[in-house]
Amino acid sequence: MLVTNHVAAGAAIGALLHRRPALAFAAGVASHLAMDCLPHWGLPRGPESHASFLHVAKRDGLAGLAAIAVLAGPARNLRTGVLAGIAGATLLDVDKPAKHFFDHNPVPAPIQDFHERIQREAPHRMRNEILIAAGLMGLSGLLVARGRRTAP
Ligand SMILES: [Zn+2]
Repeated sequence: MLVTNHVAAGAAIGALLHRRPALAFAAGVASHLAMDCLPHWGLPRGPESHASFLHVAKRDGLAGLAAIAVLAGPARNLRTGVLAGIAGATLLDVDKPAKHFFDHNPVPAPIQDFHERIQREAPHRMRNEILIAAGLMGLSGLLVARGRRTAP
């Protein structure tokens, strides 16, 4: 699943659990695994699809960074929880930028294997990813706005 969607889910979780950042982080990790089990966009792994994957990954990475800024920036009193949720929700996808930029995957092999085995990817599902992104960005934006008004 696109990392932008994991960012938005993590922000929503962090806004809800902002008083307990460690729990927000753990729930973010759980959300990543649950979301990766759902049917989502992806390309067959291999050298033949690397350029196409990179084309999407660059845009997704920038969109994910923008989503972090848009959701955590105004979060003020919720920011620690929101960032903890985002960190947990995106942690498992550190393998892709780490391999690309440093030619090293810091994720232990058994965890990496599990993460790859649970994927339900297909190349025709980009539309689903965009719809999910819109929904999750709206939800997390509302939760951050509500939390700003009600949190001490
Ligand atoms: Zn993943």
